[in-house]
Amino acid sequence: MKCDQCGQEMSEGDSYTHRGETLCEDCYLDIRLEVKACDPWAVYSATHSRESADFKGTDGLTDLQKEIYALVKSKGRVTREEVIEELNLSEQEMQTQLATLRHCELVKGHKQGDKVYIIPYS
Ligand SMILES: [Zn+2]
Repeated sequence: MKCDQCGQEMSEGDSYTHRGETLCEDCYLDIRLEVKACDPWAVYSATHSRESADFKGTDGLTDLQKEIYALVKSKGRVTREEVIEELNLSEQEMQTQLATLRHCELVKGHKQGDKVYIIPYS
C-alpha cells in the first residue's frame, strides 16, 4: 500500500490512518506535530476562522512563542540560529515553535542570498 501524502510504499503494519487518509509514519508524525503545535487555534479553526474566534496577533500563543514573535518583529528579520542563541533554545524546540508560528501565519521564511531569514508574515 501507499502513503496518501507522499506516495511512499509501506507495509500495512507501518501505516497510520488520520481523517480517512492512509499515511506513512513520517507524514503521520508531521501532521500530529503540526496539529499539536497549534493547539490553541486548531480547536477553533475547525468551526471558526481566527477573526471570528477573536484571535488576533499573538492571542493563544505560549510565552515562548510570543518571545520568538517579538524578537522577529523587533529585528525585522532573524535567522534560526539567532533565535536559538538569543532565547537559548534547542534545535528541536525551535523547530516546534516555528512550525506553530508559521502555521498561524505570524512569521514566514524569507530567502536572501544564501541565507534563510524568519520575517513577520505581513
Ligand atoms: Zn508519507
